[in-house]
Amino acid sequence: MAGVYISYPFCAQKCTYCNFASGVFPRALERRYVDALLREIRAFDWDSWTGSSRSVGETAGLAVETACPTAARLPETVYLGGGTPGNMAAEDLRAVLDAVPERPWIEATIEAAPGSITGERARHWVACGINRVSLGVQSFVEQEIRRTGRKHTAQIVAREIEVLRAAGIASVNIDLIAGLSGQTEASWRESLDWIGRLEPEHVSVYMLEVDADSRLGKEMLAGGARYGAAETPDEDQVAVLYETAVARLEALGLGRYEISNFARPGSESRHNLKYWRLEPYAGFGADAHSFDGKMRRRNAETVEEYIGGTGQAAEAAHEGERFFVGLRLMEGIRPAAEEWQRHDAAIHRFLDAGLVETADGVLRLTSRGVLVSNVVFAEFV
Ligand code: SF4
Repeated sequence: MAGVYISYPFCAQKCTYCNFASGVFPRALERRYVDALLREIRAFDWDSWTGSSRSVGETAGLAVETACPTAARLPETVYLGGGTPGNMAAEDLRAVLDAVPERPWIEATIEAAPGSITGERARHWVACGINRVSLGVQSFVEQEIRRTGRKHTAQIVAREIEVLRAAGIASVNIDLIAGLSGQTEASWRESLDWIGRLEPEHVSVYMLEVDADSRLGKEMLAGGARYGAAETPDEDQVAVLYETAVARLEALGLGRYEISNFARPGSESRHNLKYWRLEPYAGFGADAHSFDGKMRRRNAETVEEYIGGTGQAAEAAHEGERFFVGLRLMEGIRPAAEEWQRHDAAIHRFLDAGLVETADGVLRLTSRGVLVSNVVFAEFV
């Protein structure tokens, strides 16, 4: 069954490391955006947006077939990302989720910024069908948090998780970033200690992306010092931080099921698994992506273009996709006979280098392969 992604690219501030098409916009633009979002969701034809479920399996090369083609089109997961959809006005959130069919969904996630969660807000989320909250914590260390432009503290996060639990939120994710300015092995361990105390069901660990789309990345590329750019750990240090997180989180019962994602058994993100397993999902809002089993579509990237109805793009799914998307999962993929043949040389090279392993027809990355996954994926594109 399908997933639904809803983009809400409005934030209270622009974080220094953030390279998303999100930010602070005038209130009037936010109003027009919600109206455009509601129009897009309400006009969506749920009955005919995918081909049959068989074509989903065939196109993606997946050994998955469902008996009921109609079921494959209806949403079973919803993900509100951004941006900070947790800051959406109560009536807007209600209207947006009322436009999505099939409630109750098996998983409905909202991304929220620590420091913004009240009991009233959390209860409203639950009443709207939300059962999972993803908190953009990034770090529990005050100096690191301040350099990102965020204002929360570890104590605020702890209090707000209690608020979420009391409201009936079943699952909490905490996002962390390895590679923030001022981060050391000791401060990273402090953040991981907080994970041990707060016992979230799910943790995402992202490595800082250094590119010109964020203020911090731009400063690092230019060799500058603003936003603490001169005090960011180098690539090798970030790799050590990541490995430390893998070991610590696994010791806490949070197994790595995807390169950046860790969960207690049964708490893996059902929605995000659809991306990696090439199952269909429909995206709404600025910069939202959709995949119907054959075609990938992307909405306009900027809020202005989206409201103006321009900037959409579409392209056919690439046959090598499931290698570089599916191999992100620790469960690996099960290539078809002709795929083993087509990629024989590359697979043997990576086997010899200890970057991938095979067993019973499954191909997966090794722990070493995870660290250089982009090199492996590039070979299969
Ligand atoms: S990191 Fe999150 S809260 Fe910060 S600007 Fe980006 S989308 Fe907004």
